[in-house]
Amino acid sequence: MRRVLTAGLGVLLLAGLGGCATRFHDAAARDGGSRGKPSAGWLAGGELLPERGLGYEVIRTEGEGGLLRGTPRLVGLVRRAARSVYDRTLPPLRVGDLSATRGGVVTRHHSHRNGRDVDLLYFVRDAATDVPVISPGFIRFNREGASVDARVPLRFDVARNWRLVESVVRDHDAAVIRVFCAAWIKRLLLDHARGIGRPAAVIERLEEVLAQPGDSAPHDDHFHVRIACNPAERVRGCVDGGPLWPWLRMDWEKDDAATLDDDAVLAMMEPLPPGIEHGPPLPEGWVGALALAEVDAPEGLCVSRLRAPNDGFVCR
Ligand SMILES: [Zn+2]
Repeated sequence: MRRVLTAGLGVLLLAGLGGCATRFHDAAARDGGSRGKPSAGWLAGGELLPERGLGYEVIRTEGEGGLLRGTPRLVGLVRRAARSVYDRTLPPLRVGDLSATRGGVVTRHHSHRNGRDVDLLYFVRDAATDVPVISPGFIRFNREGASVDARVPLRFDVARNWRLVESVVRDHDAAVIRVFCAAWIKRLLLDHARGIGRPAAVIERLEEVLAQPGDSAPHDDHFHVRIACNPAERVRGCVDGGPLWPWLRMDWEKDDAATLDDDAVLAMMEPLPPGIEHGPPLPEGWVGALALAEVDAPEGLCVSRLRAPNDGFVCR
């Protein structure tokens, strides 16, 4: 179903807003955001992650085929996470792909399509000397935290990797919903956290968020971090692609109550992506169409959210 805002409602809103055309274009241009699902979406106004910053470097530049665009929140998360584990005597965090400039299908990944996914390499130590060394790339680790490939003798730096994921999951601005890694990597991290006496509430949160993906490789060679849609993106058709944890949902519900503000209305007038068409008129008594824009949604995702007469929301 590929339907967006009804023509009739559009006219009504345009009439009501009067003179907003310029603002609309400004808003569309500045409004970086995620649309659709991580595996079937796109990215509006993605921000570029610089090739290096305090405590991190990318493993591939854009010139080398790296995907370095994300929503501003994702780019901010990477920078804050790197800063949180920065030590000038230690190797930097190495950052893999985010998304392509405008999102969409990319090679190397099933997801990473709408600016909310990023790959982070593990911090590693030399197996013989235990000295932290820069990660040479996607190195797989076994249950003991030793590199699977004996020709590259490294150890998983559990202490520094824990500090990284704790910082990522506790980042309020980014709202992380998943950190994918292998089940045995998760166990190493949580055992370490208990061993150093991290607070139970923190450990519980990490227990929830760290997860081995069910539909792809187990991720024993990097973390794959995914952030939630924010309320403004959700209004525009962003689909989280992971659980909205209670601590995230509280913020979402608070913000979501005010979705039919100017920004939401402006979002409804965003230029439609190719393949999206106007839908039929709204049913009698319905007072607003709140979200739109999903390219390529054959599985029947929610392409528009309507505020029903009883003030609930319905997808269609
Ligand atoms: Zn990934």
